Amino acid sequence: LKGKIVTVVGSGLIGRSWAMVFLSGGYMVKIYDNKPGQASGAITEIRKQLEELQQAKMLRGNLTAAEQLSLLSSHDDLQQALEGAFFVQECVFEDLEAKQTVFHEVENLVTESVILSSSTSCLMPSNVFSRVQNRTRCIISHPVNPPYYVRLVELVPHPETLPAVMELAYSLMTDVGQAPVRLRKEIDGFALNRVQYAIIAESWRLVQDGVISVKDIDLVMSEGLGMRYAFIGPIETMHLNAPEGMADYLQRYSEGIKRVLNTFGPVPDFSGEPAARIIKEICELIPAEQEHLTSRRERRDQLLRGLAKLKE
Ligand code: NAD
Repeated sequence: LKGKIVTVVGSGLIGRSWAMVFLSGGYMVKIYDNKPGQASGAITEIRKQLEELQQAKMLRGNLTAAEQLSLLSSHDDLQQALEGAFFVQECVFEDLEAKQTVFHEVENLVTESVILSSSTSCLMPSNVFSRVQNRTRCIISHPVNPPYYVRLVELVPHPETLPAVMELAYSLMTDVGQAPVRLRKEIDGFALNRVQYAIIAESWRLVQDGVISVKDIDLVMSEGLGMRYAFIGPIETMHLNAPEGMADYLQRYSEGIKRVLNTFGPVPDFSGEPAARIIKEICELIPAEQEHLTSRRERRDQLLRGLAKLKE
């Protein structure tokens, strides 16, 4: 795959991140956006980021920032952007119709063998690709923000996706240093957001019911569960947490787990008085003005950089 061309359609936050990830693996990246000037602006931003990463010795891959930049081009014309590509990563707004239209247009401009991949976070493959004729080459490659440091990519097939397409996407993601996982079939929320929403729901209920403060429930994750989840998942955690492994764990703890799970409340409404209260509480900790949010995001990304390095 090395040296091949990937086209990134949509040059916002995620399009730029994908471009940097593919460049780090030595791929040529052609970036397209339908908003004039947006794709060339993305190049300016990527140059700045790659140079900063190089200075901080955090640049991914074996190439220098200059070498990676030489592989990157921007295009205001879709046909030109798609020329020679073997893989198209779509990163336009999270809007079903916009994505359907993009894939319809793209399909008309590429050959049968080109893989069509979407970054969608929440839309189902069977909807995203419904206007594509040959859906055997379609797949969702869902990244996690920021993809440069959080390497997981969820690969979600359309019901018609060929196994070979899944395998090729898997190889590409591995080759550029991401950590792909395969879903065997489509499901709303994929895997990551289903787990994330379960955590959000119970955290919300505990704060809403006055059991714990916003500050403290976040500490339960950041100082507790999150410490191990950066390295081992929930199933391995179970396996390691009883002397004789999983079967032993289930024997000891499954009754207790079921008892607690049965006390979980309904899906929260995320509105009204509880929402107002939780908004107030988090905004007292981190005011919602841009300067505060930006500095907390910078802190998050810096910490994630360190963690990514540690995981290496
Ligand atoms: P964004 O708003 O930053 O960027 C979208 C870009 O797409 C803009 O530059 C826009 O001009 C361009 N665009 C819109 N319509 C287009 C079209 N028809 N053709 C070409 N370009 C077009 O959005 P984002 O945050 O980068 O999200 C992009 C996708 O990635 C979404 O599907 C989103 O769900 C997914 N995603 C986002 C995150 C995240 O945390 N932001 C994480 C994972 C996945």
